[in-house]
Amino acid sequence: MIRLYDTNKRAKVDLIPREAGKISMYVCGPTVYNRIHIGNARTFISFDMIRRYLEWSGFEVTFVQNVTDVDDKIIARALEEGRSAADVAEEYTAAFIADMHAAGVADPTIRPQATEEIDTMIALVETLIEKGHAYEVDGDVYFNVRSDARYGHLSGRKIDEMEAGHRALRAEGQGLEDRKRDPLDFALWKAAKPGEPSWESPWGPGRPGWHIECSAMSQKYLGLPFDIHGGGADLVFPHHENECAQSECACEGQFARYWMHSGMLRINSEKMSKSLGNFMLLCEVLEDARPQALRMLMLQTHYRSPLDFSTERMAEADAALSRIETALENMRWLCATSLSDAPQVLDAARIESFVQTAREGFRSAMDDDFNAPAALGCIFTLVNQMNTATSGRSLSTRDAEQVVKASDCITELLGVLGIRLEDRDDASIEYPPETIALAYEFAGYGGHDATEAVEALIEARAQAKAERDWNTADAIRDNLIALGFVIEDTPQGAKVTYEG
Ligand SMILES: [Zn+2]
Repeated sequence: MIRLYDTNKRAKVDLIPREAGKISMYVCGPTVYNRIHIGNARTFISFDMIRRYLEWSGFEVTFVQNVTDVDDKIIARALEEGRSAADVAEEYTAAFIADMHAAGVADPTIRPQATEEIDTMIALVETLIEKGHAYEVDGDVYFNVRSDARYGHLSGRKIDEMEAGHRALRAEGQGLEDRKRDPLDFALWKAAKPGEPSWESPWGPGRPGWHIECSAMSQKYLGLPFDIHGGGADLVFPHHENECAQSECACEGQFARYWMHSGMLRINSEKMSKSLGNFMLLCEVLEDARPQALRMLMLQTHYRSPLDFSTERMAEADAALSRIETALENMRWLCATSLSDAPQVLDAARIESFVQTAREGFRSAMDDDFNAPAALGCIFTLVNQMNTATSGRSLSTRDAEQVVKASDCITELLGVLGIRLEDRDDASIEYPPETIALAYEFAGYGGHDATEAVEALIEARAQAKAERDWNTADAIRDNLIALGFVIEDTPQGAKVTYEG
């Protein structure tokens, strides 16, 4: 049974989907006026990890994520740059998708765009007016917050406290529209101002408010109540509170069964902000960091806790990832060079129990509110156990079977977290073309394939050593080293790796 922390209940609860074996999930997407920053990336990577785990656990997940492609910020940017809002939105939608792919975040099942769903939003606003929860003033439509007796239940805020805040604001004269009947009310539909993108509506030309978008699109694609609504913790109020109020007033039922929120990201222990000059875009971070290492860093902190991002932590995460990669490479090497007639040196039952303990530990950590740091801990334990068990050993074919099970387990569990290891298999490595001439010289190789050439050189060197022709053996070795190869002589022969 998976348990998750529900923001609405303020407790960990059992995840019981509305339909057995299926999970419907909505995560608020980006407003496309800029490249996304590393804090947004944390939200999307967190929910990608959650979704992957749900799928691995056997659920069929329908994951909907909107793109907000009409908004004040998009319009402002378009004016600044002298182009259309649609043009700005198109550019940054494409950039967002590219950034997500670069970060290894899987595409949502459905990615609706706000501007394609205006009719659905208008229909929802009409329902709210009919039911007495919204009213029109000069082409704007507002949600009447006081008409919703449950308003504030998600964020745990009391209407009277909110009102005091608004009164203070008004006293300072910080431009609250006088059109609203109550300062707490928020816009569902905004009348068009000259030069802004607009759509026809029963209230005249205008555009939807931000909150109504998510209410309309989640209901359309998932039906109500859907299982999980997610987003960054900064969205709880007012965005999610407002989504919830609109949808529950319109449908007179429940909107989302569970609310999940990922924690904030800080840079060097400070809040990230443009004014502090520590604002980082995801695409900038990925110029210097491997995406798997970034994900490793992010998953080393529980998704709900504040996450500290720094270049030091990035380097540590990369080093942790490299330790796993090196261990897996060693295991592959040991298996590739195992001999059928060698004596068995590993205790098969012991290796099996390492693997089983890792799997069980991983599952119980993830079942407990997606505790990825603990799940990673289980993977690292298995890596260390396998390093110790195989260190300095020559394996038999039977041993290799156990080692393969362990390395497959490590790769699989990392994959569940969305950490896809680089394939460092020989086949994927491009060797320098100089190896072909070298192989011709030392091994009489007549082909044009660098991988074959390297194999021929390794064999020629082994042959030379067997014939005690040290000059040739050393010449081959030195030439390979000069080209960027690393050669380790082991009891099972030479282990050659290319570092480039
Ligand atoms: Zn939303």
